[in-house]
Amino acid sequence: MSTSPGICWFRQDLRLHDNPALLAAIDCGEVLPVFILDDDNAGNWKCGSAARLWLHHSLNALQKSLEGRLSIHRGRAEDIIPRLCRDHQSTRVFWNRCYEPWRFERDKEIKKRLQEQSIDAQSFNGSLLWEPWQIMKKDGTPYKVFTPFYKSARTNANATPAVPLPVPDNIPLMRKDSDGLTVDDLKLRPDHPWCEKIERHWRIGEENAQIVLEEFIEAKIDHYNHGRDFPAEKGTSRLSPHLHFGEISPRQVWERASEVGFDDNIEVFKSELGWREFSYYLLYHFPRMPYDNLKSKFDRFPWWLNEQWLKRWKQGMTGVPFVDAGMRELWQTGHMHNRVRMIVASFLVKNLLIDWRHGAAWFWDCLVDADLASNSASWQWVAGCGTDAAPFFRIFNPVTQGQKFDPDGIYTRHFVPELKELPSKYLFSPWNAPQTTLEQAGVRLGDSYPCPLVDIQQSRQKALDALKKVSSSS
Ligand SMILES: Cc1cc2nc3c(=O)[nH]c(=O)nc-3n(C[C@H](O)[C@H](O)[C@H](O)COP(=O)(O)OP(=O)(O)OC[C@H]3O[C@@H](n4cnc5c(N)ncnc54)[C@H](O)[C@@H]3O)c2cc1C
Repeated sequence: MSTSPGICWFRQDLRLHDNPALLAAIDCGEVLPVFILDDDNAGNWKCGSAARLWLHHSLNALQKSLEGRLSIHRGRAEDIIPRLCRDHQSTRVFWNRCYEPWRFERDKEIKKRLQEQSIDAQSFNGSLLWEPWQIMKKDGTPYKVFTPFYKSARTNANATPAVPLPVPDNIPLMRKDSDGLTVDDLKLRPDHPWCEKIERHWRIGEENAQIVLEEFIEAKIDHYNHGRDFPAEKGTSRLSPHLHFGEISPRQVWERASEVGFDDNIEVFKSELGWREFSYYLLYHFPRMPYDNLKSKFDRFPWWLNEQWLKRWKQGMTGVPFVDAGMRELWQTGHMHNRVRMIVASFLVKNLLIDWRHGAAWFWDCLVDADLASNSASWQWVAGCGTDAAPFFRIFNPVTQGQKFDPDGIYTRHFVPELKELPSKYLFSPWNAPQTTLEQAGVRLGDSYPCPLVDIQQSRQKALDALKKVSSSS
């Protein structure tokens, strides 16, 4: 066997199945699997607290699958990768591509530097169905609207999602690298009771990602189209953190869904994977998306940062029960149902008039699936400033949304137990309840549960007036 190992640099692909970089490294003979926690290059976009917690467990799972031979490091990848090549006389490095602008630029530079040293550096597509440069309009510019993007991707014969690769029969792993760290050395999991709270809700790692997918296929995909809108039903796959960390690839999920057959439920589920693709597509073509409004007229929007309101929104103490339920779900589980994400985001941006970037930053820290592409694209979508966004004037009403999508109040009562005795009629707007009803339910507004930060109708009107100012000044 060769004494010069192929380096397989694991990043957002913490799995053995469908891993083109790993298979390429195995073709060289011995494999040195490597993981680098590169917070220096990540800057603002280093993993948030909840995602770090996930990463801790995901790395432990990968370490176990690799029989403890994963070589773990912390620091700048452009220093560590060449050093590992030197130390192990390795002339081949393989990785699966990432698309966050900081990673993309860093990796391009590393590839160039390695090639200058006659080291073969190859990258592969391991985390998308379609490469962002594969799907372009006839005039060569990128799509800005989801539907034509998705239609083009689905009908482009050259872009059919590749069949997932098999898990290798045997990985000829190099002996343990002596200068590596342990997962614990990375200190990704703070010693805080919040961690245990989050951990109770998840099964982490590649093996579990497969189980979660199978459970979804068996029990939920058949009524996904309806069930996905009701947070109490848990009708979605909950695969997002597994996909984010690459414990499972979108190709595996796509293929498994395709095996089930063809109906509305499956097509809607696939189109959600399509939204994930579109988010990465936008991030690749518009790398300022996490920072800048994609519709620049929103640069003139009169956001108003009320620190106290922002704090109350983060705490799930806005006094609007459906919003508070969502924000508490986020804090307690590291996740929030998609419909509720849209409602809490709309409330922050359109009722409290707080800039979407403050909301995105909180999500970044609290979500186990925090993902630069999906988070930025979704916040811009809700705020109305994205390329294919919900129009700003469409403002979710958190009262009617709660009544419609949590009709029995199961979700809201679970996360806002102070209101659990209130009749459903008043659960989503306790400020409308007669005093006797509040008393019977043990609710003291402004004491046991807050009064609403704003009046829903008046704040809506204020947002529409603010929008007029932006539109008329263009
Ligand atoms: C304000 C806001 C912020 C968001 N931030 C993130 C984020 O940081 N990370 C993230 O993964 N998703 C984000 N989303 C999208 C969506 O809410 C989650 O992907 C979804 O809730 C994950 O749950 P699930 O796996 O059960 O989804 P399912 O309904 O089972 O969907 C399957 C998969 O499709 C993808 N997907 C579904 N909906 C979307 C969408 N709207 N945009 C992009 N991909 C989608 C996810 O990978 C998901 O796992 C955000 C949405 C909003 C409105």
